[in-house]
Amino acid sequence: MACWNSLIPRVIFVSLFITLFTSTPGKTEPLACPLPPELADRVHVDPAAIESASTDYGNIVHNKPAAVLYPSSVQDISSLIEASFTCSTPFGISSRGNGHSTHGQDMANNGVVVDMKGLREQKKRDRIFISKRPLFADVGGEQLWIDVLNATVKEGLAPVSWTDFLELSVGGTLSNAGISGQTFRFGPQISNVYELDVVTGKGELVTCSANNNSELFYGVLGGLGQFGIITRARIALGLAFKRVLWAQILYSNFSAFTIDQEHFIATHGRRPGNDISYLEGGLVLDNGTPNTWRTFFFPAADLPKISSLVKQHGIIYSLEIARSYEDLTEKTVEKEMKQFIKGLSSVPEYIYQKNVSFEEFLTRVQIQVQKNESHPWLNLFIPKSVISDFDSGVFRDIVLKRNITTGPVLFYPMFRNKWDDRMSAAIPDEDIFYTAGLLYTSGINDWQVYEDQNKAILEFCDKAGINVKQYLPNHATKNEWIKHFGSKWTDFEQRKALFDPKMILSPGQRIFNNN
Ligand code: FAD
Repeated sequence: MACWNSLIPRVIFVSLFITLFTSTPGKTEPLACPLPPELADRVHVDPAAIESASTDYGNIVHNKPAAVLYPSSVQDISSLIEASFTCSTPFGISSRGNGHSTHGQDMANNGVVVDMKGLREQKKRDRIFISKRPLFADVGGEQLWIDVLNATVKEGLAPVSWTDFLELSVGGTLSNAGISGQTFRFGPQISNVYELDVVTGKGELVTCSANNNSELFYGVLGGLGQFGIITRARIALGLAFKRVLWAQILYSNFSAFTIDQEHFIATHGRRPGNDISYLEGGLVLDNGTPNTWRTFFFPAADLPKISSLVKQHGIIYSLEIARSYEDLTEKTVEKEMKQFIKGLSSVPEYIYQKNVSFEEFLTRVQIQVQKNESHPWLNLFIPKSVISDFDSGVFRDIVLKRNITTGPVLFYPMFRNKWDDRMSAAIPDEDIFYTAGLLYTSGINDWQVYEDQNKAILEFCDKAGINVKQYLPNHATKNEWIKHFGSKWTDFEQRKALFDPKMILSPGQRIFNNN
């Protein structure tokens, strides 16, 4: 990667940045403000750096920044933000954790992208620090969850709440929520944070927690990068287990599937103990699944009969549970699992089980980013009272009729009381809500048909009075954002005025800046 400093002498570096050109579509506009000279060798403007910061996992939105900062310290991030804050024409700054957004949320059109990879690549040992008494891990916002797993299991410990895929940054998931099969029990990742260090939109480094600078703490968690860049998170740890018994249970009937999902979370979500600490679920469709990165483990010999069940019913549903254990025998855990399954309200069509190591389970989703693919995803939270309308109107009507859905479709419940309402994340009002994740893969030239399907789903929900909230939201207008945050909007706006008054941070979310 060519470095700015090696290409242009420092004097030109400063003078170039004080020139403001008229905007030309598709072209990068130089910044109107000087950047601190001490950042010169970490600020890159070469085509490779600009290109990498103007695409993301979605590969749909492409916004070019004027420059990319690869920070070597938290101070670099503060200096950059301060430079924008003190400039008469502030420029947008976006933190790119690992670029796994799907609609440009991590981009900064004509601004500066802070690529947290810079901090990660310093490999400083104190960026993942484990304390046993009291029990917690202090991890840099730039760290990937896979590295947090690797560091903590060495000590026999692990975070309690995960995402399905671990090559996501700590700051990136905490800006959204961080959900997976553990959420029904431990809450999302944002419910498992004790303290944060955040560089605000004024360039100030602030430590915050529920008792100290709590407005910033609650604002940042689920705050879509609007109030500051997370540079450290103190997260909850539990014991790492040795093994996991993992089961997939197939249903042809939606109502039996969701009754059993809710039975599981009611039985295992509210009391301490090991038992079932993971529950998800998803659709098995005639096309697109099992997907290469998703993890159905139906034996090859059974595929014809599963396939014929899918053909007969259009969709079948897979309930997925896992029991982590340490010093029990495989037989004991299998016996327990049998008991759990016996307690189900209906007789499932098929049951499959697999025994894997704890790490193998947590790293079950492995994907490679492909340049010739796009990912026009739609993730929703749906109140429990309307899931059967959602199934008939969305899954059985829109998804089945259009027959374009390629990739996994997740569907599983969680409890509202495991979330903290003071945090920014927007969720439905009911005690139980479901997440639906339509995780399509398309070609780079045909994502529009999937986006059209997403639009049809949202329009259907709107008309049918199904009050969904988008997770990893993608809204185009201020009114949509106001509706998204609902009763939280006033606080959200006030926190923006307090912590990022010049609206510098995370312009790619398009909440306060029409980027
Ligand atoms: P980026 O895409 O780089 O950034 C996302 C947003 O966070 C941007 O607005 C950015 O500015 C902001 N941000 C990034 N770093 C920081 C920081 N340090 N401080 C403040 N703001 C910051 N989500 C789940 O909850 N559960 C899952 O199981 C799950 N699985 C996924 C699987 C795949 C294959 C993919 C592509 C995504 C998945 N996600 C999942 C979604 C994922 O959590 C979000 O896309 C997340 O934002 C990606 O993290 P990232 O580090 O790549 O963030």
